[in-house]
Parts: sequence; structure tokens; C-alpha cells
Amino acid sequence: RFISFEGSEGCGKTTQIRLLKKRLENRGEKVVVVREPGTTKLGERLRKILKHPSFSLSPLAELFLFEASRVELIKQVIEPGMAENSWILADRFTDSTLVYQGIVRGIPLKIIEQLNALASSGIKPSLTILLDIPYQCSQLRIKKRDGSKTTTDRLQDEFENSLKQIRQAYLDLAKREPQRFYLIEGTSSPQTISARIWEKVKNVFEL
Ligand code: C5P
Ligand code: MG
Repeated sequence: RFISFEGSEGCGKTTQIRLLKKRLENRGEKVVVVREPGTTKLGERLRKILKHPSFSLSPLAELFLFEASRVELIKQVIEPGMAENSWILADRFTDSTLVYQGIVRGIPLKIIEQLNALASSGIKPSLTILLDIPYQCSQLRIKKRDGSKTTTDRLQDEFENSLKQIRQAYLDLAKREPQRFYLIEGTSSPQTISARIWEKVKNVFEL
């Protein structure tokens, strides 16, 4: 019972995870929320470096840091969580690596797929919620949330230029694996989206 949430920054992943967690907990379910990069000690340290690098990282170095963060996340949190029968809700997972380090930064997808599988011990989400929003909307939400000071100019520029590409890359991934992905329009209200996700979750996991 592992669900990942994907979509470009500002699409509402974190909000929807919080709402789904509440619904599951109201049913007496145990829920573990994780984010990538992050959650573990190493992951949170790497998150700081990856989100606000004071030096520029080459694509491969970046890829290895994301994968290193993932190894620790799997070993320390996801595997133990699954063993105690908790739901795992992930704010980004392997699909983010395909989109950002693969499509955006140009590392061959074949290589990323292999590293993803290795780093995650072959553990895959049974359901991936893709929150899709127009890139202009993503841009607006990021500005509103972060102002202009929380990311470096490099990241900001790179990010704004690649929002379109990111959106399309996610849609392509979803088309490749339609049984795992559930595509939702992220521009609806948080409550509407949450209700839709809940219906899907009840359906897939037979709740
Ligand atoms: O807040 P959130 O976790 O969505 O932000 C993560 C940011 O880190 C993304 O905007 C993206 O620029 C970057 N990222 C990345 N490669 C990944 C995951 C995230 O470059 N695999
Ligand atoms: Mg978020």
C-alpha cells in the first residue's frame, strides 16, 4: 500500500498527501508520509544541498545524490513502514528522477531506470497520483509560495524554463503506465481533488 504523488512544483502534492493521510487515519489506518529528497537524516541534508546548491552540480552527481537519498529512505523508513502494515504516501519518488534528471537534465532514461530499481530495491508504488497543472499556474504558485528568495537564480531560471518540459514528461510517463498512474487536474479545488483521490484509493485498495 504505497502511493506516490508526482507533478511539477506547486501542483499541490503536499496538500493532497496531508488530506489523504487524514482520511486514512480517520479509518484507523497507520500512515507514513515521506518526501524525496528528505525524510531521513541523510535525505534532509541532501535536500538542502539539492534545493539550494551554493555550487553547480553536474547532472550525474545530482542523480547519485537523489539515489543515495532514496536508498536510505527505502531501508530506514519505507521497508519498515511496509513491514508494520502502514500506508506509505510519498511526496515524489522514482518518476521525479526520470523527469528531472532524465528528461530535463539529459541522462539516458535506461540508466535512470536501472539506478531507480537498484536504489529502491525494486519497490514500486502500486498507485501514482499525477497532479497536472498548466505551467503558467505552476510558475504563479511557486512565486506565491517562495517569493523570490528561497531558491538560487540558477534553479529558478532553469526551473521556469523547464516547467513546460516537465509537465509533458509526466504526461508521457503516465501514458506509458496507465494502470499505475491516476491523472488529476490540479487546478480544481483542494477538496474536489482530495475527494477524487479518495474514490480512486478506495477503488484500487478495495477499502
Ligand atoms: O518542493 P518539492 O519537493 O516539490 O521541490 C523539489 C524540487 O527539487 C523540484 O522543484 C525540482 O526542481 C527538484 N527536483 C529535482 N529532481 C528530482 C526531484 C526534485 O530536480 N528528482
Ligand atoms: Mg510540495
